[in-house]
Amino acid sequence: MILAIGSMLYHATLQHMQQQGDETPMVWEMLLYMYILYSPDWHYRSTMPTFLFFYGAGFAIVHALVRLRMGFKVHYVMLCLLCVPRMYKYYIHTKDASAKRLAKLYLATILTGSLCWLFDRLFCPNISRWYFNPEGHALWHVLMGFNSYFANTFLMFCRAQQLGWNPEVAHFMGFFPVCENSETENPVTGAAAKQNGMIFFSFSPHLEADIWFWQINKQ
Ligand SMILES: [Zn+2]
Repeated sequence: MILAIGSMLYHATLQHMQQQGDETPMVWEMLLYMYILYSPDWHYRSTMPTFLFFYGAGFAIVHALVRLRMGFKVHYVMLCLLCVPRMYKYYIHTKDASAKRLAKLYLATILTGSLCWLFDRLFCPNISRWYFNPEGHALWHVLMGFNSYFANTFLMFCRAQQLGWNPEVAHFMGFFPVCENSETENPVTGAAAKQNGMIFFSFSPHLEADIWFWQINKQ
């Protein structure tokens, strides 16, 4: 929610202070992902969350004082890369083809989105003279919105499996992938699903902000 609000404020004002309202929660979000991905392995349950909390608070202060530019981007990419090994481990341990497709869609959206962002940034003066502007930066936001949605849905699937439930990927309105608990019993643990028929919706802060931004952009 903080990221969605920060992103809206920044894109509506394009001011330095609001930019931090967008960027600092991006870092907090990655710290949260690191917690979600790695916490099952931690021996000392409270040490790492405390560290992540102070790291997030410390980053906010440093970013506010120093206004990192390239440093922010490098730091953010590093945080993303730290999450990759565990995501890959989940991917190779997942047998379900639809869940594997979520992971592939995750990769496809982040790569295409980053290319759109990069092209828009590098060639903005040329592109803005074109008869038709493909709006690479807006595309980046839309793709990243779907990207975090796919990531969350994939992680929900993995987590439901770890809990011994029997999740499957269903398609809401025939299109939107959602993680659903199957009525049948878990083939591995043999346990009947405790949360029969439950649907998990992922929340994607960037997606909501993008839809909003897209609408004001069209006016
Ligand atoms: Zn943006």
